[in-house]
Amino acid sequence: MMSEYPVFKKISPHVYLIRGENKSRFPEANSVLIDDEILTLVDAGSNLSHIEQTLRSLQHQIEDIEQIVLTHFHIDHKGYAQQILERADCEVMCHPAGKEAVETFEGMMRYYGVENHQYRSYWENILEEWLPHVKSSYKITDYLKEGREIDCGETSLVPIHTPGHTPDHTCIGINGTETILLVDIDLTRFGPWYGNKVSVIDEFKESVRKVINLQPKIGISSHLLNPVEDALQERLEEFYTVFNQREKRIIENIKNGLDTVGKLSKAPTIYPRIPLDLFLIFEEFMVRKHVDQLKSKGIIRQEEEKLMIERK
Ligand SMILES: [Zn+2]
Repeated sequence: MMSEYPVFKKISPHVYLIRGENKSRFPEANSVLIDDEILTLVDAGSNLSHIEQTLRSLQHQIEDIEQIVLTHFHIDHKGYAQQILERADCEVMCHPAGKEAVETFEGMMRYYGVENHQYRSYWENILEEWLPHVKSSYKITDYLKEGREIDCGETSLVPIHTPGHTPDHTCIGINGTETILLVDIDLTRFGPWYGNKVSVIDEFKESVRKVINLQPKIGISSHLLNPVEDALQERLEEFYTVFNQREKRIIENIKNGLDTVGKLSKAPTIYPRIPLDLFLIFEEFMVRKHVDQLKSKGIIRQEEEKLMIERK
């Protein structure tokens, strides 16, 4: 099927953005191809046919890929790595904090927080239907380390560990930090996502701050069709404010009688709507993280299930 937008875009010498299907929205994502001495693919979540088309246009094929860099364990980022590994004998790198969840399906389920969840089988069925390829296991051959550049030839990649979204989440600077693959600091209208058991709001906030302080000029989101160049700093600041907006909304909703995590999640409070139960799992994890923070800050208290605003 023909895509309604070009499958790839050249960003700079040797560097190509490979777009996902469905405008790179979950469960697809962008990949980045470094067509240099060492043919390198950063993330493998764009549709395999898009990856193949891009390679073909550059006189390559899947078998030529020499290294895959995975930014974190999420299904829309590790994506088609398994299929590629079946055909290319290449290195696969990730951050050590994601090893278990990148390498095995069970590890991934544990990180998602659904290994014993009431929705586990429902979740597995969805994966079977959407992304059967992410269920298989493979071996990581090397690790990303802050400050240790990945050599691709004339191009070098700079791992920037930015945990919070997930513990292993790593942005990738391209020849320094003026151009950064922002991964899931994704600048979408939805805002930050921290719907896994292993996601941590405060770490995520710190990571966004870390990227802002690097003052990049070009930000490549994993879920937007084009790199962001205009007002990138402002876009990152806006993304950052979403954490606080959600916190305020939760307080408002509790005042309005949505006084349990269940009620807040079903409203829903963070997602604009819940099209599938799958998103309810994520919503609940995110709401619960805010609720825990509000409790520890003494802004709300909890008696049994019931949440109450602390009146001072
Ligand atoms: Zn992610």
